[in-house]
Amino acid sequence: MKTRVVSRILVLAFALTSIPSGYAVAAAGVRPLGALSCEANFSASLRAERVVPVAAPDEVNARFPNPPGSANTHHFSAVTFKKLWREMTARFSGRSDVSLSKWSDQTPLDAKILKIKITSRENSSTPPLRVLITGGVHGNEPLGLLTALDLVDVFASGFEGRPVELTILPALNVDGLASNRRRLSDGQDLNRLLDDEEPSAKVTRIKEAIGTQPFDLSLDLHGSHERKQFFVIKQGDDRGLAERAIRVLPNSLRLKADNGDDTGPVGVSGLRGYEPGRYQLEAPGISTSVNKGTLKSYMSGLGTRYAYTLEYPGQISFEKARRENLKLALAMIREALRLQP
Ligand SMILES: [Zn+2]
Repeated sequence: MKTRVVSRILVLAFALTSIPSGYAVAAAGVRPLGALSCEANFSASLRAERVVPVAAPDEVNARFPNPPGSANTHHFSAVTFKKLWREMTARFSGRSDVSLSKWSDQTPLDAKILKIKITSRENSSTPPLRVLITGGVHGNEPLGLLTALDLVDVFASGFEGRPVELTILPALNVDGLASNRRRLSDGQDLNRLLDDEEPSAKVTRIKEAIGTQPFDLSLDLHGSHERKQFFVIKQGDDRGLAERAIRVLPNSLRLKADNGDDTGPVGVSGLRGYEPGRYQLEAPGISTSVNKGTLKSYMSGLGTRYAYTLEYPGQISFEKARRENLKLALAMIREALRLQP
């Protein structure tokens, strides 16, 4: 076990500081996952539950069904979340660099805000890169939660290089995750509410958890059920950060335009049928979007220099998506570190 931890520290230092080519990051991204089964009990407990079929649709699920062809059969229950949080709290007790929000049985599931903060090299005189990771905004996109926890696993193992301060909100729609439902329990889409002038109690709690201090980088982890390729939705000029980062994935896994070109419009199959041009590809896997009230645009409005939504594909194997999603998130952090003055 000890050798494994040391090797992972080296792997991460390598991944974040010294890698010019995608191949090296690919190797680095795979290693931490290989160690998960032995080191991260919380991931193991989630994995066990992932064979459970999708929960029976409740009233809201019936109104807002998963898209046709959804490959999502992953399910997290309230019991799993509690177990997960207990295990993580025990795992990091006594660690000054890792803090977790408290689990309270009194707080209803749809009011819970789970938060983890990891600070590397607390005593360094260099200001840290401030990174926000959010997952589970849509309850039927469970990989966001797992990737957020994989990042906890990677960064909590310790790493070298420039200091990083990670704030992780892994399950913003806990209730939705527990019932495999995209939307909040009131039927609203959380990722369209962040610009509401009179925010609900739920949105207010999320904003409080995020705070008002701008981040350098924010990654909101989502999934796209009907796709076979990843894409990143950017906000404004990002100095090529996302385009460099996504090269960590093979070209075959980077989204192409509807007509097969590297650039151009990408549509979405939604409840109202096919909506063309919802996204505009600037390069394979790199897009802008017309969606309003997203977490990404909220983060950008707060002054976050590099704000993104990451979309994993639902039509490739879940384990492969998980590996590649972690690689992509790590590459985004590495590129942000490179651009930090
Ligand atoms: Zn989503």
